[in-house]
Amino acid sequence: MQLNYIANTSVPSSSGKTIPVIDPSDGQVFDEIQRGNAYDIDVAVGSARGCLDRVWSRLSAAERGRLLMRLSAKVTEHAEELALIEQRDCGKPTQQARADALALARYFEFYAGACDKLHGETIPYLDGYSVMTWREPHGVTGHVIPWNYPMQIFGRSVGGALAAGNVCVVKPSEDACLSLIRVAQLAAEAGFPAGAINIVTGYGHEVGDALARHPGIDHISFTGSPSIGTLIQQVAAERHCPVTLELGGKSPQIVFADADPDTVIPAIVNAIVQNAGQTCSAGSRLLVQQAIYEPLLEQLGQAFEALRVGPAAMDLDVGPLIRQSQQQRVWDFLSDAQVAGIPMVAQGQIVDEAPETGFYQAPTLLRDVPVMHRLAQEEVFGPVLCAMPFTDEDHAVELANATRFGLVAGVWTADGARQFRMAKRVKSGQVFINNYGAGGGVELPFGGVKSSGYGREKGFEALHGFTTLKTVAIRHG
Ligand code: NAD
Repeated sequence: MQLNYIANTSVPSSSGKTIPVIDPSDGQVFDEIQRGNAYDIDVAVGSARGCLDRVWSRLSAAERGRLLMRLSAKVTEHAEELALIEQRDCGKPTQQARADALALARYFEFYAGACDKLHGETIPYLDGYSVMTWREPHGVTGHVIPWNYPMQIFGRSVGGALAAGNVCVVKPSEDACLSLIRVAQLAAEAGFPAGAINIVTGYGHEVGDALARHPGIDHISFTGSPSIGTLIQQVAAERHCPVTLELGGKSPQIVFADADPDTVIPAIVNAIVQNAGQTCSAGSRLLVQQAIYEPLLEQLGQAFEALRVGPAAMDLDVGPLIRQSQQQRVWDFLSDAQVAGIPMVAQGQIVDEAPETGFYQAPTLLRDVPVMHRLAQEEVFGPVLCAMPFTDEDHAVELANATRFGLVAGVWTADGARQFRMAKRVKSGQVFINNYGAGGGVELPFGGVKSSGYGREKGFEALHGFTTLKTVAIRHG
């Protein structure tokens, strides 16, 4: 049984209740987590505040950096163990689970180096004055994490917050807690003081809500769905608590006729099947210039047919979806496609070894998806790619910007001037030209526009969000 981790101690929830943990590869319960409540959050916030006041705020930036560097080394040392935990908990194929563990180590490494590089400025002002700005931590930060990339999102969010001088209370998704509990234990082993990182597990409407409402939380970093992002924003607004929202996406891959198909096809496939399509920055819309629409779809169809789906431990192209309700969600989208007469180009195959009780979905390529159909507008959060043709650059921009999201975009063209024009005209937080990072790059600021959220995590930019700016004006004559 897994316990909460508060003040470097494993503790049960005061609720006395637990939540079963299910392996998505076979649908079987194999562990349980605490069903935390508002009281547990209160204890965690108290522990964090005590740590901040007594220890954390007295450490130099360089000392914080050394701790983060030691944690990075610990995570690297335990990467295989963490990957196996994640594989079972989230159904991630081995390579993806390993990549997530190593990305977590890299986040801590990056933010370790950033700690003592964050500084304010001096501002020229009136004669007889000296004015400076200080970057100060918010204090106790709350982190609400989704299930799709628990380790990576923990790394970027908690890593950035700690580097900026905050202490953290973390609410992982009820579907993906195990690796993060282990990481918090590793942090204690690395020398983090009790209360710097606290983990309380449980349901969103109980623990997540209590965290967002707690008056001792000075900043909330929320990564998850737009609908819960709205709730968090409303709750935080009641006490004017600053919020960073990392929400969903419906990211376009825009392929012009002059793009190189041999580079484009594997990148397009990877951007939609990685993590079984359960990626906020999945390239889930494919916009193709009319002249190459048919040949590209034919080649892409062959690539989809070659994809194999199966248990995470088999390490195939695609693993299971996280849970049964997510599988049902994808089925509902696909049945809507059938009703609307949207043609299917190709599907991958679920291998015979996949237990019927697992949550599998074959990658599916759909074509001629009408721009206003919900398949082209909403996150499916499964391995479903929706293709549509465009005529020219203006049309491509119109289609690319025709959703409420704006997280990531991919543009594929050999024309240098068009690369710049498209990067300017597409409304999104990141634009990749002739590559698709799927949100990748620890160093690269990441976040959305429109309903994809606001604020930036990753990169040095995140440290601005995890601090507040104080202006100090001294009149010395
Ligand atoms: P979700 O919104 O259902 O849950 C996210 C977290 O919020 C979970 O920990 C959940 O328990 C918690 N939560 C639920 N209800 C809550 C409430 N009332 N108050 C406080 N917390 C609550 O999202 P999910 O299904 O876990 O993740 C998938 C979504 O996350 C997708 O929309 C995806 O695009 C998005 N996402 C975005 C990014 C990004 O960086 N932009 C990254 C990963 C995932």
